[in-house]
Amino acid sequence: MAKHPDVAIIGGGIIGLTSAFFLAKEGLSVAVYDRSDLGREASWAGAGIVPPGNPERAATPADKLRGIGSRRFPELSAELRELTSIDNGYRLCGGIDFLEPEDRDVPTVWRTEGIAFERLSLADAQRLEPLGEVGGEPYLLPGCAQVRNPRHLRALIAACERVGVQLHPNTSVEAWDFDANRITSAQLATGARVTAERFLLAAGAWSESLLRPLGHSPHVRPVLGQIALLKGPSCSRVLMLGKRYLVPRADGLTLIGSTEEPEAGFEKRTTAVGIEGLVAFARRTVLALAGATLETSWAGLRPGSPDGLPFIGSVPGWDNAFVACGHFRAGVQLSIGTAQAITDLLTGKPTCVDLATFALDRTPDTAAKSAFRS
Ligand SMILES: Cc1cc2nc3c(=O)[nH]c(=O)nc-3n(C[C@H](O)[C@H](O)[C@H](O)COP(=O)(O)OP(=O)(O)OC[C@H]3O[C@@H](n4cnc5c(N)ncnc54)[C@H](O)[C@@H]3O)c2cc1C
Repeated sequence: MAKHPDVAIIGGGIIGLTSAFFLAKEGLSVAVYDRSDLGREASWAGAGIVPPGNPERAATPADKLRGIGSRRFPELSAELRELTSIDNGYRLCGGIDFLEPEDRDVPTVWRTEGIAFERLSLADAQRLEPLGEVGGEPYLLPGCAQVRNPRHLRALIAACERVGVQLHPNTSVEAWDFDANRITSAQLATGARVTAERFLLAAGAWSESLLRPLGHSPHVRPVLGQIALLKGPSCSRVLMLGKRYLVPRADGLTLIGSTEEPEAGFEKRTTAVGIEGLVAFARRTVLALAGATLETSWAGLRPGSPDGLPFIGSVPGWDNAFVACGHFRAGVQLSIGTAQAITDLLTGKPTCVDLATFALDRTPDTAAKSAFRS
């Protein structure tokens, strides 16, 4: 690698690591800095639901990003396995989404995209899965998939190493040095400085404090999510009920998510109330889980944004600063599209998706709704 990298990425979560992998494969020299271990924050904690999508027929740029993720997860998973021998657990397991009256537009979005789905009666749904008490109207989604986040991150880290990305865990970026409208270096907690041609800010829920010195306050904030892991017989598909869901793993474990707690700030913790609520929800929803035991629980800080959409693109006012943060509940499913868009932008190609929707200085559309809520 040259004296300083083409791109320094601040944040080694799924967004920073996938971007690093794609950029390095395009021949750029890349360094990733993370203030703790790589891939141990929201990206590690998430449930790994990858909903279906179709980039060719998506109605909005956000749907297109989801569609890119759905389309390319199998291919990326195979590539990572080939390169690293790590199986990220990607699996097309199918799902059932229980839609509420306020979701009445959702099937139209799916139909427009050409996503396979089938409206089920409750009796049909009960024939497919050992359901207990469920609300809403069940829709079968055969194209719903899942990935094991910790394994996917391990594979990404190993793949980054294979393609020459310099990885710097336990290296916190605290501030910037500027010259006119360029960042000249990033200041580390140790007092050392790192230089690069360009800087990509992908620090998840912690991005706001690094954006403020650049003159931007997009209100990226942490939104705590707790998860419970149960052991015992369960469902076979992902079950989505409003903001809560069950994700059955292949090894007899079922992940139950999740709470949504913006008031917790940066305090990453589980609570008895939160975990008991999730366990009770799981036992109510899937009869087979009535006797399941709680294996473990954990929490993560989603990078929330005012309209639930990420910020992706150039940092306005700066020649060599870029951002990819604020992916809220959807950073896994949007990671491939985000990394592709960033790679297109930094290699001078037309971006795979129109980035105006994700601009740092946009006016947030807080009424915008997503066709999936993982
Ligand atoms: C409980 C839960 C369930 C979820 N389920 C799903 C799901 O099913 N499907 C889905 O698509 N999404 C899901 N998500 C959302 C998804 O996990 C996030 O949107 C995604 O992980 C965000 O990735 P990231 O790389 O931006 O952030 P992170 O993974 O948080 O990574 C940011 C990194 O930046 C580092 N960092 C911060 N500040 C600095 C600094 N100053 N210097 C250097 N490094 C720094 C951090 O240490 C961290 O490693 C879920 C999230 C949670 C919490």
